[in-house]
Amino acid sequence: MNCSICGREIEFHRGKGWLHKETNSIYIMYCKDCGYEGGNSITCPNCGGKNYVDNHCVSPDRSK
Ligand SMILES: [Zn+2]
Ligand SMILES: [Zn+2]
Repeated sequence: MNCSICGREIEFHRGKGWLHKETNSIYIMYCKDCGYEGGNSITCPNCGGKNYVDNHCVSPDRSK
């Protein structure tokens, strides 16, 4: 299964639901400073910036 929004591979975890496999997180976040995309964190794992915000919530592509 893939996320219909970002196309990344996703996995179903019992009790948690669908998670992006790459980051093990429901949300994909991105950094407004450097453009890095990744999992949950307070600050950007790439540049340490604080403009690290939610991009989207996982959305299983059920069309396949
Ligand atoms: Zn996604
Ligand atoms: Zn950054």
